[in-house]
Amino acid sequence: MTRPAPEVLAELAALRDADPPTHGGRVLAYVYDHGRPELDRLAEQAATAFLPVNGLDPTTFRSVAVLERALVARGRALLGGDDEVVGSVTSGGTESCLLAVKAARDLWRGADPARAVGRAVLVLPTTAHPAFHKAAAYLDLDVVAVPVDVASGRASATGLLAALDEAGERAALVVVSAPSYPFGVVDPVAEVAAGAAARGVACHVDACIGAFVLPWWGDVEPWDLRVPGVTSLSADLHKYGYAPKGASLVLHRGRDRHRAQYFATTAWPGYPVVNPTVLGSRAAGSMAAAWAVGEALGDDGYADLVSRTRTATATVRAAVDACPGLRVVGEPTGPLLAVADDGGVDPFRLVDALRGHGWLAQCQPAMTQPDGTVLPRTAHLTLTAVTADVADTLARDLRRAADEVRGAVPATPDPTLVERVLTQGLPVEVAGVMATLEALPAEVVRPALVAVLQAAIDPGPVGG
Ligand SMILES: *Cc1c(COP(=O)(O)O)cnc(C)c1O
Repeated sequence: MTRPAPEVLAELAALRDADPPTHGGRVLAYVYDHGRPELDRLAEQAATAFLPVNGLDPTTFRSVAVLERALVARGRALLGGDDEVVGSVTSGGTESCLLAVKAARDLWRGADPARAVGRAVLVLPTTAHPAFHKAAAYLDLDVVAVPVDVASGRASATGLLAALDEAGERAALVVVSAPSYPFGVVDPVAEVAAGAAARGVACHVDACIGAFVLPWWGDVEPWDLRVPGVTSLSADLHKYGYAPKGASLVLHRGRDRHRAQYFATTAWPGYPVVNPTVLGSRAAGSMAAAWAVGEALGDDGYADLVSRTRTATATVRAAVDACPGLRVVGEPTGPLLAVADDGGVDPFRLVDALRGHGWLAQCQPAMTQPDGTVLPRTAHLTLTAVTADVADTLARDLRRAADEVRGAVPATPDPTLVERVLTQGLPVEVAGVMATLEALPAEVVRPALVAVLQAAIDPGPVGG
């Protein structure tokens, strides 16, 4: 079967047209819009120039080594790293976090031969990104999740350090976020890093979402590689670095720590293998695009984008604060807001009502922490530079949406829903689905989530 290129491209364009808009600030998660079309063209051209290149072997494709060095150097300079800080470009935040865990685990194991068969412990706040749970699952670590303060949304330094003491010899790594995704709150990095260092435990700062915002935000307590005791840090280029998807940085303090991230083998009859990251063949297009966007923006460009993001965040925050029945959770630093019910507005219904006005926010189910305290059900808003252009409209529509659902009973679980979603697909209104996910036990929800996502990409019967 051959098809003319215009027809193929038209089909792709039609598929994209049915997606939510990636530009314009109406999608308040997943996408990061700088609002500068010329930057998109630049990223496209840079990626296109590097599409055929394989980042697998930077000794063959020297261009890749040059770009990777430049991105690591830029990240290190921005994030307070000295000459001892090195790292890698990865495909995204999940890979960066996974590699930080891998390095910590292997250094932990290497420190004592008796540990070769033991399981290391990863200590994290309940608000840490699921990438760390995934890393622990893939790499065979035990996770100890420590409750965060319900009022501030912030990790508890004493809680995390007590968990390290409890884990004792088995503690390999503690994670803090700058900021956390669910509530946008910067954790007490300095206190945790100092305590971890005193115990000889590694400390990772997950700045996947904050790394290219916080340096220009102002009024942020120390959170980056300047902080003693921070041993690694993740920073996503494809979030507020405004690069296209597929680029992140993992930075390590110390070349030995960076080396522990690598995998090398000669146990096959092919070429000698050295992989710094998870992947073998590596796309260089996303790396080239990330480099190009950073060069074009420069410090001033980022400062300008962050300043607009800050204005947008202040506008939206003020609208939430002024809206009866809604409140912002905790003390966010940066452009992420979690909106909770403050007497009469169910966040899940708010998300559905916002969709009616053309905005896509994310539902975050309530979570019972290990100590029994409950983090509330919220609506998550990720605000970007382009939000500044539409912030007043968003503020108005937030008020309207809240007015529409104020007083309605909060969305409740519907046990028949799982079956219906599996046979009929997801409904447009998500409140009921999310309330169901929130209420069902994890051992029911997890396989159901997998089944729904699996069904979404199942091609069905052959030839069907
Ligand atoms: C996005 C994010 C990650 C994971 O990054 P991906 O690029 O989605 O894999 C990790 N931590 C935080 C805080 C994030 O916001």
